[in-house]
Amino acid sequence: MKEAKEQSPGEGERSIICGIDLGTTNSCIAYLKDGKPVIIPVEGNSPILPSVVSFDEQKGHMLVGREAINRLSVYPRHTVRSIKRLMGKETTVHLGSRELSPPEVSAIILKRLIEKAQQSTGLAIKQAVITVPAYFNDAQRRATITAGELAGLEVLRIVNEPTAASLVYDYVAMTDKLDTPYILVYDLGGGTFDVSILEIRGEIKEVLASCGDTALGGDDFDQRLVDMFIRHIEDKTATKISTDDIALQVRLKDIAERTKISLSDTPFVAVKEASVTSVNGEPVNLNLEVSRDEYEDMIRDLVDKTIDKVHEALREASLASSDISEVLLVGGATRTPLVQHSIDGIFDIPIQHSVDPDLCVALGAAVQGGLITGEPLGHILLDVTSHSLGVKTADEFSMDTGRADHFSVIIRRNTKIPVRRAESYYTMYENQEGVDVEIYQGESPRCKDNTLIGAFYFGLRPASVNSTVTTEFAYDKEGIVHITVDQKGYDNRKEVTLDVRTRQVKEKDTVTGNDDQERPGTGNDQAVLNYIISKYKALCNKQGIDDKSRNELIEIGERYQRALIDKEDDDTIDDLEASLIDKIEEIEETLEDIE
Ligand code: AMP
Repeated sequence: MKEAKEQSPGEGERSIICGIDLGTTNSCIAYLKDGKPVIIPVEGNSPILPSVVSFDEQKGHMLVGREAINRLSVYPRHTVRSIKRLMGKETTVHLGSRELSPPEVSAIILKRLIEKAQQSTGLAIKQAVITVPAYFNDAQRRATITAGELAGLEVLRIVNEPTAASLVYDYVAMTDKLDTPYILVYDLGGGTFDVSILEIRGEIKEVLASCGDTALGGDDFDQRLVDMFIRHIEDKTATKISTDDIALQVRLKDIAERTKISLSDTPFVAVKEASVTSVNGEPVNLNLEVSRDEYEDMIRDLVDKTIDKVHEALREASLASSDISEVLLVGGATRTPLVQHSIDGIFDIPIQHSVDPDLCVALGAAVQGGLITGEPLGHILLDVTSHSLGVKTADEFSMDTGRADHFSVIIRRNTKIPVRRAESYYTMYENQEGVDVEIYQGESPRCKDNTLIGAFYFGLRPASVNSTVTTEFAYDKEGIVHITVDQKGYDNRKEVTLDVRTRQVKEKDTVTGNDDQERPGTGNDQAVLNYIISKYKALCNKQGIDDKSRNELIEIGERYQRALIDKEDDDTIDDLEASLIDKIEEIEETLEDIE
């Protein structure tokens, strides 16, 4: 490996240095464009090339990526995946009649990345920075350099994956400064898991501790779902399914992966697949619903294993969780909500996942390329949510105090937008008439410390206690959140849009709010105002309130509304609003005590 020479475009061709994440499951390639790392599409519009190679015996050529995956079930002996696990070993793999070393297979993947990247950018690629896991030994690193050279590249540097991930975060315009020099990178890919703690001293990043499991990743999550599908088919057909059926395994794995990915965004997934196999000559369909709760129970022990490793890494680095000032998530499987919640449980700081976890390492490798050649680097500006967004719910604390105040996050702070996420909630009473959906933004687990940015009422059909209501937030690039609440199984849903910047709530087809009531000077709190007034009006007619309290409530409410209509000054309105809220809360508390 050498330091970069002056970038020398060959015969009139401009050449670039690229950063390559040569992954176990997927690979990607990035380069610096005007000082900013960008990912290059390599499979149609997709930036991700599955790290799978297959030899087509008839045509005598190698297939890479999705085309190779498609051959897995029919030509398993001509196809190889996860070659990274064999790097550095004195072994070969057979792809039909071809026998190749692990670096030779990796070189085929690298070549495909380069060809596609050259086509997309119109630029020549001769030099690269390639990433490897922090735990890779010398032989594995050397094998990676050999793979690069076989692909016709000059490998400028081999960089540890967590270091590359942290490099890209350096260039994301983040407001928070690091309090301590320690950052933790949690990397859960398809087949491997790594956790590393880095210490930053100026420009230098040193890996203080690194541990993981080379046989644990998203593929294992898929396998748990595959096992469940097989049990389901066996129960349905009363027939034992052979585990040697490769075509069935490949089909079920594909269904499982799609199910798993959907479960990251929605709490229920309907799996409907025709003819997945046949029993006694009859086709068998897969038709079932999988809930996120059920799925999380299936994978909990695997996620717990990764959490044990996080503690092990902290011990190895002689640090406490409070010493870590940044937690970065890398690898596609970190999109799993259970993974994010489990990591959240260890650290008090918000975890960073504003950069796409699949692309983070390649982007960082491109940044490293720029640092080697001394190219000026600009900040990467991302479209991310600046606050966590969620709804008010009841939790155990609420039960104790008699008041719901738990902030249930649906979209976390620093999530790249557009994004769509849903969570499910459960009714608290039999035949509950409805729910007040209150949307807050902020980082505190208690709503009272966050900001109420919108609210609306969702009427429920009569149902038993603990029936499910799902709430979906789809946050678009314009800052509008499209909210859908759905009473599951009752054909009862409501769609509402909330403008996060103006805090305007619009129910589908009807616009709540009244221009006459707009507050002078602000106009921002319309949703909150609507909410207070609707609460006040509902309480005025409620049974069980003593006359004195009711009269006081009506008096404050009327003065408040009159002040809004007369557009009185902000201080008067604020005082009246605070008195009205206090009164509403006081009465609600008395009513809850009675109930
Ligand atoms: P990587 O090795 O980083 O490319 O990660 C690939 C793994 O991430 C595979 O197991 C994917 O199925 C998994 N993955 C990708 N997207 C998601 C998602 N939205 N939720 C859960 N797992 C995902």
